[in-house]
Amino acid sequence: MTGRTFCVFAGSNVGFDEEFAQAARTLGATLAVQGYRLVYGGASVGLMGAVADAALQCGGTVVGVMPQFLIAKEVAHRGLSELKVTTSMHERKRVMADMSDGFIALPGGLGTLEEFFEVLTWAQLALHPKPCGLLNVNRYYDALLEFLNSAVERGLLSTNNRSLLLTDSDAATLLQRMATHRPSVEPKWL
Ligand code: AMP
Repeated sequence: MTGRTFCVFAGSNVGFDEEFAQAARTLGATLAVQGYRLVYGGASVGLMGAVADAALQCGGTVVGVMPQFLIAKEVAHRGLSELKVTTSMHERKRVMADMSDGFIALPGGLGTLEEFFEVLTWAQLALHPKPCGLLNVNRYYDALLEFLNSAVERGLLSTNNRSLLLTDSDAATLLQRMATHRPSVEPKWL
């Protein structure tokens, strides 16, 4: 990884497990203390709000990116270093991707999965060389990781492409692994 900006995708809800919000706060604080800029979806609610609040409290720079139509629904965070307003979800994702040097998913729902798998499939196509890491808080993503392993076993996902997904349950360890990640520049076709 060459730059100093991490994009974090996270749930717009906090979920039922207190460890989710705790992990979001730890990730936000760790990013700020280590001097990374945080780019995220711009909400003040859910795990998105938790990661942003913690980074801000630790003196970090936090940029939110939100489409106009979600400003009220997702309760845009008003205390950010910057809030970028886009015209569509597609523009939001493009802006977040362009600004960032690596991508992390905290626990989340469909939106988190969609955003994370989009940047992961772009890595698979070698459209970018940026690391993609899943923060597997309290085994939240175990079933997903098992599914991906079964996709390898059943011949629909190559081992090389599977290895593009970095995973750890600890934020600092995941950041360290992503920061030293050296991706191949060649597309890894099946
Ligand atoms: P969720 O994980 O479903 O709570 O959503 C987390 C974030 O993903 C929120 O900021 C949503 O606005 C966003 N999101 C929801 N659906 C999509 C989608 N289809 N594409 C991109 N982002 C989405």
